[in-house]
Amino acid sequence: MVVVMQPGASEEDVARVVEMVEDAGGEAFVSRGKARTIIGLVGDTERFVALPIAGLPGVESVMRIGKPYKLVAREAKTEPTEVIVGGVKISRDTFTVIAGPCAIETEEQALTAARAVKAAGAHILRGDAYKHRTSPYAFQGLAKRGLEILAEMRAETGMPTVTEVLQVEDVELVASYSDILRVGARNMQNFELLKEIGKLHRPVMLKRGLASTIEEWLQAAEYIARQGNQEIILCERGIRTYEPMTRNTLDISAVPLIHNLSHLPVIVDPSHSGGKKELVHPLSLAAVAVGADGIMMDVHPKPEAALCDGPQAVTTDEVGQIIADVIKVARAVGRPMAEAKQNLQVAGD
Ligand code: PEP
Ligand code: MN
Repeated sequence: MVVVMQPGASEEDVARVVEMVEDAGGEAFVSRGKARTIIGLVGDTERFVALPIAGLPGVESVMRIGKPYKLVAREAKTEPTEVIVGGVKISRDTFTVIAGPCAIETEEQALTAARAVKAAGAHILRGDAYKHRTSPYAFQGLAKRGLEILAEMRAETGMPTVTEVLQVEDVELVASYSDILRVGARNMQNFELLKEIGKLHRPVMLKRGLASTIEEWLQAAEYIARQGNQEIILCERGIRTYEPMTRNTLDISAVPLIHNLSHLPVIVDPSHSGGKKELVHPLSLAAVAVGADGIMMDVHPKPEAALCDGPQAVTTDEVGQIIADVIKVARAVGRPMAEAKQNLQVAGD
């Protein structure tokens, strides 16, 4: 069951609900969103139904949610979640473009890519310092030096950033450099990492696991939300199928399904899904048309020399045309583009 508090509910109102639930032998998980607080109840639902929770001050509604995820379920919130990062909104009424290098390799490579994606009209920068590679011999990222370069990309462009965090031990460090923390596909079910990130009040991008169902993906998001962090952006990045022509198969249906099942925003990664640079443009357009809340694409000044994922990176010269065409489709489907933010102060502001 989920208790949705009124927008103006006080801490005492919340505490009263928690106490009533705990007195009845249940557990209450409080999740404070920007607009309102939601309390997820775990335990004997029949006992909760008998409690006079709906009549307590500050309570808007009490709902039974027969799903394995509750706080991220659409029923738990009347309004879709808006994640606002450094003045850029990721939500259902805008379209946000995230772009940049898959991996930060050198200062020059990263800054060249950052300047180009800014000029092309992207809103948020991507760039990884830690890479989860299939081969232990492949480039693993520059670690802390990569984070420092990410901070330079941010300072020079004024754009907020997203970068991957691979392990619990790095969460604090990565959070001190990047606006959004990303959980990669290979870590979607690293529940300890999800719990740790959930304790921060920091936007999180949760990529879909390589072979995860939509329900498993939403349950992973629930791990984050249960810790009190609802600023979650889901990212569909393709799933493994029998088709070897693409790196993964972009599950385009996941976007409207997520919108029906959850209040969280969902974006598409046209790079890691197709795995081929020539697919980035058409998949980006498909993402806008299907109603995604944004895209995240790999951009590299010299993809042929990239240390990671070169075949799927578009060049710094190509990104402008892709964004221009994304804008055309967005207009055609009546979706305004997000506003770009120019001046940032500190990470997480
Ligand atoms: C990435 O975005 O760089 C990445 C590693 O993607 P994924 O986790 O989806 O494979
Ligand atoms: Mn990559």
